[in-house]
Amino acid sequence: MEDKQETPKTASKKSRAGEAIRSIDTYAAQCEKCFKWRVITTPEEYEEIRSKITEKPFVCSNKPGVSCQDPADIEYDASRVWVIDRPGIPKTPEGFKRSLVLRKDFSKMDAYYITPTGKKLRTRNEVASFLAANPEYSDVSLSDFTFTVPKVMDDTIPEDVIKKGSATGDGKKKQKTSKAVTEAGTAKD
Ligand SMILES: [Zn+2]
Repeated sequence: MEDKQETPKTASKKSRAGEAIRSIDTYAAQCEKCFKWRVITTPEEYEEIRSKITEKPFVCSNKPGVSCQDPADIEYDASRVWVIDRPGIPKTPEGFKRSLVLRKDFSKMDAYYITPTGKKLRTRNEVASFLAANPEYSDVSLSDFTFTVPKVMDDTIPEDVIKKGSATGDGKKKQKTSKAVTEAGTAKD
């Protein structure tokens, strides 16, 4: 078990499919009216939006002082790797931290949780036994945890990454509305 707690902060790594740990460095949500992407400043805020996006779709005006008239904060393109979250992922319980790491081959992300005591939990079973062994977290429920990971968007993966089994490389990008989105490291330096 290799571990090192990394925080999802800026990690602009050049794509030397090497040792770099790839984590999320920017969060964005798409406006359901104008389809522009808005950067969401903190992971907490992002999680809040993501957890409720089905009932409360994101719109530009959710950001203070911003309207659909303003240019997008960020464009969906291959200048960075985009990963798209599913809606409705529960907010991470207080004190815990949820981390996502992109595999070196860009094939998928892996999710894990860090407990307030610094333990890494990689599966539902590990969460269940942690909660059972630590009754002080009785207000936290197993359903607050999910290992559902965002989808890595093929059309934003660096070209030098060998894609297995992807025959057609044509960028048919469908931008889905009402989906919060995260975007992972690997930008320009
Ligand atoms: Zn808008």
